[in-house]
Amino acid sequence: MKNTINEVLARYNKDAGRLMDILIDIQNEAGYISNDAISTISKECCISSADVDQTISFYHFFSRVPRGKYTIFLNTSITSYMAGRDEVARCFEKEAGCKFGSVSKDGLIGLFETACIGMNDQEPAALINGIVFTRLTPYRVRELAAGMRAGKNVNQLIAESYGDGKNADIRTMVFNNIRKTGPVLDSSYIPGTVLKNKLSTLTAEQVIGEIKNSGMRGRGGAGFPTGMKWDLCHRSKGNTKYIFCNADEGEPGTFKDRVILTERPLLLFEGMAIAGYATGATEGIIYLRHEYKYMQQYLDAQLTEARKQKMLGKDIAGIKGFSFDIRVQYGAGAYICGEESALIESAEGKRGEPRDRPPFPIDKGYKQMPTVINNVETLCLAVRIIEQGSSWFRSLGTHDSSGTKLLSISGDCKFPGIYEIEWGMPVMEMLKMVGADQVQAVQVGGPSGLLIGPGEFDRILDYSDLATGGSIIIFNKSRDLLKDVVLNFTNFFIEESCGSCTTCRVIPVILRNKLEKIIDGHGVKKDIQDMAEWSKLIRNSRCGLGQTAANPVSSSIKNFKHLYDELIQKGTDFDEGFDLETSIIDACLVVGRPAEL
Ligand code: SF4
Repeated sequence: MKNTINEVLARYNKDAGRLMDILIDIQNEAGYISNDAISTISKECCISSADVDQTISFYHFFSRVPRGKYTIFLNTSITSYMAGRDEVARCFEKEAGCKFGSVSKDGLIGLFETACIGMNDQEPAALINGIVFTRLTPYRVRELAAGMRAGKNVNQLIAESYGDGKNADIRTMVFNNIRKTGPVLDSSYIPGTVLKNKLSTLTAEQVIGEIKNSGMRGRGGAGFPTGMKWDLCHRSKGNTKYIFCNADEGEPGTFKDRVILTERPLLLFEGMAIAGYATGATEGIIYLRHEYKYMQQYLDAQLTEARKQKMLGKDIAGIKGFSFDIRVQYGAGAYICGEESALIESAEGKRGEPRDRPPFPIDKGYKQMPTVINNVETLCLAVRIIEQGSSWFRSLGTHDSSGTKLLSISGDCKFPGIYEIEWGMPVMEMLKMVGADQVQAVQVGGPSGLLIGPGEFDRILDYSDLATGGSIIIFNKSRDLLKDVVLNFTNFFIEESCGSCTTCRVIPVILRNKLEKIIDGHGVKKDIQDMAEWSKLIRNSRCGLGQTAANPVSSSIKNFKHLYDELIQKGTDFDEGFDLETSIIDACLVVGRPAEL
């Protein structure tokens, strides 16, 4: 263990700023992060052990105790349940001989839950020692458990065949399921063309002008104008500037970055280099969610290839003084790190808690230097805009929302997968495109978005109507929207709140309790009114997570009120939902008394 810790520390020059990488490597190589590891890191990196400990405690994939020779994270995404997660989970428990949240007595198998791992189109899926296993069934779980008992390594446990496209190079069973391509996924564009043939003819100001004229807005969901962001960073003063690619895609239901990173990594690197040219940044960092660490070797090889092709490095494309390079920073499992200031905190080795703003990252971002943070898709599109011009881009989409959008579509439809569409597509047309019948509801934009019903299927996907980062989940009429969907999403926000704001820490729990009360048949009209009121209050939270955490409840009350009305008690205004007998039994169990009335 001591050797492992020292080797890892040497790998990162004992740099406290690389604490995330240090902890990730120790977790992976030692299986957990021990007290000894914490004191050694603290001493060698000159940071307090409390600082090390608080970073560890923030992320799902760090652990202070061993989590089994085979650590299984079965995800809790809604489509996983829709595809039979309960049976798969029961089978894992039976085979391991332990419950989720624990390790088998012999230390062989640890069973844990985690939020959406970006595989909504091929559920139920799990990470086993960081490797993705998709489309699990009880039969497959029994096979996996037998392989584990036989001591096979995790790569040997993968089924004989790999996924589609470049997934074969990654040697993963993940499928990309690309159904419709556009500028980003268009394989006729050869990455590097703009850098080599066009950039030397343009000044930084001209590049920014072209992006501004294109009207492109950030594809992560917030929709901030990309050209303006680049311009502000260009004008900002700082010795070093940074381009961050936000590849944390933690919104349940989204998996487009997974596909872009697999199929078009060089296009992304090119987009980051162009952003570097425009802003004066010399360093690029891709903040990649831990769930996609299975791509690490592949991405490292692609970065090496980009350097070979002179797309990265010094004097890129023969432009004197234009230097730019990229590294990948892995996260460790925290949805909030998709928020840009939390992402920066995390990349600096801290808890991923959002910063107070101002100052904004374009003035004081990573290491207090000017920093641009763009989504994967945004950076790829920037390349095509410089190649084909802003007018071409404006000719796609709608007046308010120029260009195209990648949608990650999953749930009850015949063809789940990735669709690159023009902004402005009506929901009804989208449902037809993916082969969805008997649709009861569509979750647009993931749990932080909106749950809409058939009455709104004539609405269009664009920034002025249904803005979305790309997660679309479809529910047919067989689904119990309140019990299966709204409760799942609300629990997700409870789990992912960083806990800093009282509103975000407390209100989702209140909403969850009220929702359970209604589902259990104890609800009254006043509970629905209370939930609507609490949903307004939470909008005062500090960041987007808290501000949208009540959306599953508020949009379902707005669009599916009849489902609540059907469940509440009629003719009474009061039922606190308190079950005396169950509560006494629970209390007895807690204090170790016989559970008798
Ligand atoms: Fe943390 Fe929630 Fe507050 Fe955001 S809103 S800072 S996630 S507690």
